[in-house]
Amino acid sequence: METEEKEGMTMTKRTAALLLLTAALAALITASVTGDGPAAGAQQKSPPSLQKDTSMKPITEYLKDVYAKGMPKVVKSEAEWRAILSPETYAVTREAGTERAFCGAFYDHKKEGIYLCVCCDLPLFASNAKFDSGTGWPSFFQPLRKDHVAEKTDLSYGMRRVEINCARCDSHLGHVFEDGPRPTGLRYCLNSESLTFVPGSIPADF
Ligand SMILES: [Zn+2]
Repeated sequence: METEEKEGMTMTKRTAALLLLTAALAALITASVTGDGPAAGAQQKSPPSLQKDTSMKPITEYLKDVYAKGMPKVVKSEAEWRAILSPETYAVTREAGTERAFCGAFYDHKKEGIYLCVCCDLPLFASNAKFDSGTGWPSFFQPLRKDHVAEKTDLSYGMRRVEINCARCDSHLGHVFEDGPRPTGLRYCLNSESLTFVPGSIPADF
């Protein structure tokens, strides 16, 4: 027994250096992999709306929230919005910017679910009202609920358009045009930057 134990000890000593090396290598690999994760994500410029997918609540929770709390206005200062939004999202939602066509996260997005206001999580649109408008921006023929999307006349750039905003936090969403498909004939033209997507089936009663 003693001999075996001694041999075992010797083996342990012999392999100790190797084990240490292996452990160090493993640690290095782990560190580099973990380090690469967020860096790679940043390089791809994943919009915050997509990054938020991991912490999503079920769709019904967002809808219940609205029923339970009603729609008290969400008001924040410019500094507060800047602190929670990416510069791109801030420019679109708080300064009425427009993202480039065919560049947003959702213009060709076909999954089932609902789209929330990126600023305040108010449910705005559902995948069953989304259509391919060919414009390069996510397009819907109707909002999830009419009272969630506010409208106002926009005379900028020498055009007369109808701007659409989140009814709860006034976030700029895009514009609505009267050249949409049936049944409404409307085309709600959105910026992907203004939206967060929550996957799941859409409750029939909302
Ligand atoms: Zn909002």
